Amino acid sequence: MRPSFLYPFFASPSSLRGVGEKSAALLEKLGIEKTVDLLWHLPYAVHVRHRATSVRSLKNGEINTIKIRVVEHISPKSNRHPYQVLCKDKEENELTLVFFKAYPDFIRKNLPEGSERLISGKTELFNGCWQMSHPDYIVMPENDRQIPDIEPVYGLTAGISNKFICRLIGHALAAMQPLPEWLEPNHQKALNLPSFAEALQQVHHPRGSCDLLPTSAARMRLAYDELLANQLSLALVRKKVKKQAGRQIAGNGLLRQTILEQLPFSLTDAQAKVLSEIYRDQASESRMLRLLQGDVGSGKTIVALLTMLNAVECGAQAAIMAPTEILAKQHFDTIAPLLEKIGLNAALLTGRLKGKARTKLLEELKDGKINILIGTHALFVEDVAFADLACVVIDEQHRFGVHQRLNLSDKGNRADILVMTATPIPRTLILTAFGDMEYSKIDQLPAGRKPVDTRVMPLGKIDDIIPAVKRKTEKDERIYWVCPLVEESEKIDIAAAEKRFEILQKTFGDQVGLVHGKMKEKEKELVMERFKSGEIKLLVATTVIEVGVNVPEATVMIIEHAERFGLAQLHQLRGRVKRGNKPASCILLYGYPLGETSRARLNIMRDTEDGFLIAEEDLKLRGGGEILGTRQSGVEQFLLAEMPEHQNLLITANKDAQMIVATDPDLLGPRGQALRTLLYLFERNHAVKTYLAG
Ligand code: ADP
Ligand code: MG
Repeated sequence: MRPSFLYPFFASPSSLRGVGEKSAALLEKLGIEKTVDLLWHLPYAVHVRHRATSVRSLKNGEINTIKIRVVEHISPKSNRHPYQVLCKDKEENELTLVFFKAYPDFIRKNLPEGSERLISGKTELFNGCWQMSHPDYIVMPENDRQIPDIEPVYGLTAGISNKFICRLIGHALAAMQPLPEWLEPNHQKALNLPSFAEALQQVHHPRGSCDLLPTSAARMRLAYDELLANQLSLALVRKKVKKQAGRQIAGNGLLRQTILEQLPFSLTDAQAKVLSEIYRDQASESRMLRLLQGDVGSGKTIVALLTMLNAVECGAQAAIMAPTEILAKQHFDTIAPLLEKIGLNAALLTGRLKGKARTKLLEELKDGKINILIGTHALFVEDVAFADLACVVIDEQHRFGVHQRLNLSDKGNRADILVMTATPIPRTLILTAFGDMEYSKIDQLPAGRKPVDTRVMPLGKIDDIIPAVKRKTEKDERIYWVCPLVEESEKIDIAAAEKRFEILQKTFGDQVGLVHGKMKEKEKELVMERFKSGEIKLLVATTVIEVGVNVPEATVMIIEHAERFGLAQLHQLRGRVKRGNKPASCILLYGYPLGETSRARLNIMRDTEDGFLIAEEDLKLRGGGEILGTRQSGVEQFLLAEMPEHQNLLITANKDAQMIVATDPDLLGPRGQALRTLLYLFERNHAVKTYLAG
């Protein structure tokens, strides 16, 4: 149960003074649904209010606070004219207040003629006369402390003013209860961090723009807290998995040997290295939970197969899960014939399999007649039961969360888990998403892969590339044509792809095909088959072209509006044309205007094919949250921590979390109790409930 002193943090903002239903709805637009969301809503700028002693010392175009005397109200000649209030300072210099769409009663009440007021707002020199339109503040001179000299500036939405947010955050800060300190005191001192409460006060009361920097002590403190909550909950998951005794899987190697002899190639050193790491895990007493990272085309499938065969050699079953039906089918097509040769059985289970065929498959699975099951998430619905599942491989599934991963393995008898991904995730980000896992990397491609000739050119050049594409199709090579990504709506993506399809049909007739995300699996598969067989030579697609799809004849990848894609995504797309042995090329078409960062990013694509280098460079240019494209990544989006600025904090938090779990695994000691508060505060309730005793 969440401790009661945290209730105010999780109350609706409408529990705060001045928030009605209407503003609560507007706040929701800003992602603010609970009071704690307000506290996490950090200012991105500051307004400095210059205190002017007289009109002569006003700063043109800046925000000034000044004491004035109201001289005269000038009603507008018509509705189109503003309401004006003529004022003077103590030296009789004039300053006119200007109100458009004014409420005269309100103005007269707040600025009676002859009275003195302190006002604050942006002042401008207009035809030699000083003006201030719509002052932000109008107060009695004795209330001058109501006007701040420095004001934080927050992200807003229509109907929510900065002043309103400032006031709410003030209320939220005041409603906060003191919390126990969860940082280890020496550690806190060494990092020079304020307390959590002090940090919150400081971030919301910046004294200047340097207080907005991610490296300010207060921001570091909050970032550390968030990262520690993330790392601690992952460490708790990992501890649970480790505690569950695994099985010692160490086959005699015969099946694996036979398969290796069948392959037209030998393993790369990198494949051999990660396999030895995997075999070691499988043989150990604790369960395997390992992430295998390998660039596109590095040969992860064979590693997965050998891992599964190790389990089969021990008389158990294995399963491999792919994110889509197309990919599952592709794995099946690779694996099934190989298994057949050594007298083993593979089966394919997707959501499409129904009725008797499905029943039969499930029976064979239960009887142990199926050695390796290949499928989509349909593998893990309730009635799928194995005779003895010892090994689960999840391909391209970084989209899964930590807990889903664990649920999958519950099908098995303490099954080992291998998660494979081609997404080049920088090392530090791996900690945040996969901090619960061991990690292997295939850091080498099979020999003989030729580089892809990558060009960056403006969209206007489309007409020039058509003849080149035509020549390729005449040589029976295949071309992918990927259409722009429009974040907000898949419908627009599809419309763009359809339009391009129609245009290309004029040149390529029925040699051009189209796939997009709204098509049925079966239709998609049909188009892909026709592309593979060469019936279609040019494939227009939205980004749905499946990650990892294998068409060795594909040699050209054309991407429209490449600047709208994440680099990881571009890298994945390009990876698809280097599966064969013909020279491949990739054309990145960009639209105008192309910003400096976008140009730099496309140039990285042109200059290197190293997925990890690309990811690191992208991280430098754009920051961590975006690297995988938010839509598909399982990598956490942080609210307070920023990458790469807080990378070092992440590494420290990782060590801290490991130390905590080693010394107080159920968080029962005094610091442990405080850390439970931290987990609740960052909404890791699940971790507290599931992984902690007491
Ligand atoms: P990915 O890591 O992208 O899933 P795949 O497992 O699909 O890569 O392998 C890509 C291609 O490389 C396949 O055609 C596969 O047969 C081939 N391959 C895998 N390992 C090797 C190797 N050691 N030497 C040569 N080719 C290999
Ligand atoms: Mg693959």
